[in-house]
Amino acid sequence: MKKMKMHEYLTELNSTEDGFSEESMYLRFTDSLLEQAVRSRSSDVHVEPLDGGGARIRFRIDASLKTQMVIGRNIASKLAIRLKCLAGVDLTDSKRAQEGSFAFSCLNREISVRYSALPTSSGQKVVMRIFDPLTYTRDLQDLGFTDSDYLLFSQMLRRKSGLILITGGTGSGKSTTCFSALRQISTEALSLVSIEDPVEVRLPFITQFQTDCACDFAYLLTMILRQDPDVIFLGEIRDEESARAAVRAGNTGHLVLSTIHASDCFSVPSRLGELGIRPQVLSEVLTGVISQRLMRRICPHCALQVPPDTGDILAQRGCYRSTGCPACRHTGVLGQKGLYEVLPYDRELISLVTGKTKPARLRREAEARGWVSFDSKITEEVACGSISINEGRRLLNEGMV
Ligand SMILES: [Zn+2]
Repeated sequence: MKKMKMHEYLTELNSTEDGFSEESMYLRFTDSLLEQAVRSRSSDVHVEPLDGGGARIRFRIDASLKTQMVIGRNIASKLAIRLKCLAGVDLTDSKRAQEGSFAFSCLNREISVRYSALPTSSGQKVVMRIFDPLTYTRDLQDLGFTDSDYLLFSQMLRRKSGLILITGGTGSGKSTTCFSALRQISTEALSLVSIEDPVEVRLPFITQFQTDCACDFAYLLTMILRQDPDVIFLGEIRDEESARAAVRAGNTGHLVLSTIHASDCFSVPSRLGELGIRPQVLSEVLTGVISQRLMRRICPHCALQVPPDTGDILAQRGCYRSTGCPACRHTGVLGQKGLYEVLPYDRELISLVTGKTKPARLRREAEARGWVSFDSKITEEVACGSISINEGRRLLNEGMV
């Protein structure tokens, strides 16, 4: 059977003569669209209704949306129905918000998709989040840690008990860091389990549990602790219940890895304090905190060196700009990597953080222990040409908000 690319299906769909039945062609078009999203490393697919009944399809690649195609009314309506079938939502309802999920095989792996549809003034807008296991389990060393940060994180991961927390904004790659770390330490000798809400990506090296209404978080963790785990990943500490559960598990001979919303490495202990964890308890369990953001790598195919100038601090050591080329779809960006601050905690540091010590003193203390801030790392990344000067400026400005 001949294999066609997405635009070829589209051409066939727009003409009347074809070798396939019309229905089969629409199925193949949908499959091809999803496969194309995976191949291009998209994190999301947007299908946006246009006035007149057609739709614009955009992929989010390296944090930016890019239009892939505009489809006509007939194709858009068939695509909408096919996606509703896959997501298991009501085919006849397009007036209310709908949520669903499905999985498909692509490039020898199982890809999970979270489907969300919302009515707009022009029709239903569909956004699909793509969960590709390959994106979530990369080599820890390739994520963007500096050598010394990588060493610190690896030391934390070798502990038999304690609590390691990852903090960062939505979409900053926290899940990738956690799953990549878990995969790195997974061996036959260790039992790795996770509690997630929900399980988005199924991974072979860890036993994954999902919280739901019938089985609350605390009960599930109690039952899991009876199953002799060594390492426990909790999707997110978001309330007192999950904070207490993480501390309890980390204090009873398990290494716990989790994520938490906090503004930086230094504010995690006070955030846990707000969630009811006493400083004394925290000082016994908190192993370290990693704060992270994502940087857009410069496209190596169109990067141009710019000589140093006396402009801003980033330009003084020389830098690179990208002009755009087919390899980067004319965006100047090719892939993303993490930007990390890694702070191992000990009792003294925790006592400073939870006490009344001024932030500047804390920072000096951390720097004396080898901690390096985002800003210093951004400057280095610009100077070595791993990100463009514009990306460096964007990151520095974002950090000041
Ligand atoms: Zn390029």
